[in-house]
Amino acid sequence: MSIKTFKGGAHPPERKHRTEGLPIENVRTVKQVVIPVNQHFGAPIQPLVKVGDVVKRGQKIADADGRMTVPVHASISGTVKKIEPRLQPNNLDGMAIIIESDGSSETAFLPPLDGLSCTKDEALARIREAGIVGMGGAGFPAHVKLAPPPNKPIDLVIANAAECEPYLTIDERMMEEAPGDLVLGMAIVMRALGVSKGVIGLEDNKSHLQGQLESAIASRHYGNGITVQLLKTKYPQGGEKMLITAITGREVPSGGLPMDVGCVVHNVGTFKAIADAFQEGKPLIDRGLTVSGAACKTPKNLMVPVGTLVSDLVPDVIQIDEEAVRRVIFGGPMMGPSLPNWTVPVQKNTSGVLFMDEREAKVYEEGPCIRCGRCMRACSCRLSPALLNNALKANDLDLAEQIGVMDCIECGTCSYVCPSHIQLVQRFRVGKQLVRAKKQKEAQRAGK
Ligand code: SF4
Ligand code: SF4
Repeated sequence: MSIKTFKGGAHPPERKHRTEGLPIENVRTVKQVVIPVNQHFGAPIQPLVKVGDVVKRGQKIADADGRMTVPVHASISGTVKKIEPRLQPNNLDGMAIIIESDGSSETAFLPPLDGLSCTKDEALARIREAGIVGMGGAGFPAHVKLAPPPNKPIDLVIANAAECEPYLTIDERMMEEAPGDLVLGMAIVMRALGVSKGVIGLEDNKSHLQGQLESAIASRHYGNGITVQLLKTKYPQGGEKMLITAITGREVPSGGLPMDVGCVVHNVGTFKAIADAFQEGKPLIDRGLTVSGAACKTPKNLMVPVGTLVSDLVPDVIQIDEEAVRRVIFGGPMMGPSLPNWTVPVQKNTSGVLFMDEREAKVYEEGPCIRCGRCMRACSCRLSPALLNNALKANDLDLAEQIGVMDCIECGTCSYVCPSHIQLVQRFRVGKQLVRAKKQKEAQRAGK
């Protein structure tokens, strides 16, 4: 089988060796959790509990009406101690529900549901009620992707198994330890969408998993139509648009979504969460993540209750060389935000926590653009990062928008390859926010 890929990209050092092959360690004994109320992309939701309430693991504790919402659930049993703003992985303070454990293992899961015989409406309702969001990115509500408008027919479901960010190995471990759950989750989604074809897109640095995944597919009657496609190991192979282009040759249009080219893409962890929600009735209350970085003395793949403070894992579960820590990253080093400390909760889309030392966290002084064109060649979205940078430095938001700043997926490849260490992606992140704010103001004015 040929190994597919996309145009552009880069090859940052993989640095996965520290946790590759390490079994997922299940952490159940946390004393408290700090559960952010809003962990999804979409409309805000509200707490359903108050201080003093006793809750069970799996019980819904926040929700709201509306299509772009998903509930959150208690990830441990105990008492609600506080509801207050706390620092979250997006580097902002947001409302959080703090639960103190009572040590009980009682659960309040949903009843199991056969995802291969229920109706489409039942399947979508279950995925929403289980609070499932995209676990590899911005936390997009999973049920919304499964209900595209009638003019956007879907013919392919893709499992994003690229895990292209350096350091991270949690998806690899999940596929190794629970390949059948990935296949079941895909089959449920394919059935809900009426799609007969599914592809697991696997980077070839994980080609050792191909046989195991194919056996899991072949040994299940619902595996029909699912195949494994090897992809070249290259960053950002796991970007939805890059994945779709590599696997199908289709190009998601500017400003468009995977459904515009007939695809639905979910991270492999999301498919596993979907399988759990049907087989066990278990909401998305546990999160697998990789803890690594040169200042982490005990790199691991972990499974922890959502809302676990990383600081509460130290020192019993992980040990850190605190003196050596220069930067803490939530997620991968290319796209993950840098946090001021690690008293921050793991949430539904936290794929990793990296404790970086001086060498890993080094920030070089910005030099002038030497017009080498490397950023342009590396940008898989076919943008001109140097020109975008000039437009934003000149505060020309109209020009930045015109030349595609909103199509930037913030992958950071251009910053990585730039020999002058220009902080390109950092500028594009701010630029996109400014363009959005400007449009909002214009829309408000037009509405008056
Ligand atoms: S311009 Fe945006 S999409 Fe292109 S390489 Fe830079 S960060 Fe990635
Ligand atoms: S890679 Fe850096 S120096 Fe080269 S053209 Fe792009 S912004 Fe300029």
